[in-house]
Amino acid sequence: MLILSIDQGTTSTRAIAFELGPDGDLSPVAVSQIELAQHFPASGWVEHDAAEIWAATLQTCREVIKKAGGVGRFAVIGITNQRETSVIWDAATGEPLHRAIVWQDRRTAGVTAALTEAGHEAAVQAATGLILDPYFSATKYAWLLDAVPGARDRAERGEVKLGTIESWLIWKLTGGVAHVTDATNASRTSLMDLKTLQWRDDLCALFKVPRQALPAIMGCAEPLGVCDPSLFGEALAITGAAGDQQAALVGHGALNPGDAKITYGTGAFLVANVGAEPVASTRRLLGTLAYRAGGATAYALEGSIFSAGSAIQWLRDGARMISESRQSEAMAQSLPDNGGVYLVPGFTGLGAPWWKAEARGAVVGLTRDAGPAHFVRAALEALAYQTRDLLDALADDGAPPLKTLKVDGGVTANAFAMQFVADICQVEVERPAFQEMTALGAARLAALGAGLVPDLSPGVAQAPARWAPRMGDDERERLLKGWRAAVQAAIIAAQ
Ligand code: ADP
Repeated sequence: MLILSIDQGTTSTRAIAFELGPDGDLSPVAVSQIELAQHFPASGWVEHDAAEIWAATLQTCREVIKKAGGVGRFAVIGITNQRETSVIWDAATGEPLHRAIVWQDRRTAGVTAALTEAGHEAAVQAATGLILDPYFSATKYAWLLDAVPGARDRAERGEVKLGTIESWLIWKLTGGVAHVTDATNASRTSLMDLKTLQWRDDLCALFKVPRQALPAIMGCAEPLGVCDPSLFGEALAITGAAGDQQAALVGHGALNPGDAKITYGTGAFLVANVGAEPVASTRRLLGTLAYRAGGATAYALEGSIFSAGSAIQWLRDGARMISESRQSEAMAQSLPDNGGVYLVPGFTGLGAPWWKAEARGAVVGLTRDAGPAHFVRAALEALAYQTRDLLDALADDGAPPLKTLKVDGGVTANAFAMQFVADICQVEVERPAFQEMTALGAARLAALGAGLVPDLSPGVAQAPARWAPRMGDDERERLLKGWRAAVQAAIIAAQ
């Protein structure tokens, strides 16, 4: 029996067919992927064509169904998606009324700055877990309603619909029958109460988004709609949905308080499961929903590192000290230690817990002995120091102590970096053999939503790679002291 997992990401749309084994394990059997065009109409603006996203979804699903032996083999569909990206469409025609505004888009920065100025941030954070930032959907929705002539009035009458990407796809897949969202995607809008998992009228009023235009909030593993049979030849049910970072958490099986996952790609995204009650951050981490599934609700704290793999890209393409990313591992290992050299990858400012948007990168501690290997080693070590900073912020927020750090993403191919993360963070690091955690999480939610598995626990998978901490306390403290001094140097240099 197969599960069709749709993974609608920022740069591509993918469909993956997973086979559900007798032990509840999921293995990939077919995949199809289409790149997505990025539109940059103005500085800081990023848009996607929602019609293109729908067409690519349909095409990749049809290809995967064909490759995997026909629609009759499939049980259900699960969806995961780039979060916060906001779509507006006409309820009658099902056509988008504007290009979708992508999560990275900063056009509404003035709106959130004004709301912060007016003193609304504490209340918004208390209700939603989120800081005031154009990242989240609410101000994007309001912008779309104002930009499309007549849309605001029509939205009040229910003629215009708003939704994040999973909501748009479920609308199209069900032939305009279901206007729903799952609670993890809803938790990224700034409009949902994180405790009740309902839209809040006061937030809808504050952000000027009419509630009638919003989708109904559903759980992540339950019947969400049934596909129009003309699309795939059978009326497949959609029974799972979650935003990409949350789906990855489920894919990793990070289901208990103290479990966390970090995805090391261009940037790095940490999501930590904090259990059945939301934790309010004092360190500007984001409070968010991990999942609502099988009658259970799990909350998470989230933090991001702006430059992770991008520091390695810079060594390759900017500094030209390496010709391929993977060379970095052997170069770092060619040195007995960092020689007192630290690289602070503040290329685009520093995130949690420093929050210095104006900071820039720095290399400190150079001596005449330093060469390219020191830069490379320092860049890889910085991944671990930055992770440690996020974990310290989590601990300060009272999050449950970390048990295992599950990792995925391109940088995790680097065994030196993973060992260093284990050493500096004093936690066991675990990298699964199969890396597509996002698509896997959506498939698992769909399997649970259809009653095909009893819970979200991962079935037997190939053994993961593991790194256990082995560095002594003195060495770790000495290194962390050096790192913190380097961060201060980077901050001072930018002033
Ligand atoms: P994204 O999804 O953000 O595009 P990926 O998960 O594909 O990112 O990871 C790509 C990043 O991983 C790049 O920044 C690249 O420099 C880095 N990377 C790939 N292989 C290695 C390696 N062996 N060592 C260190 N970094 C690596």
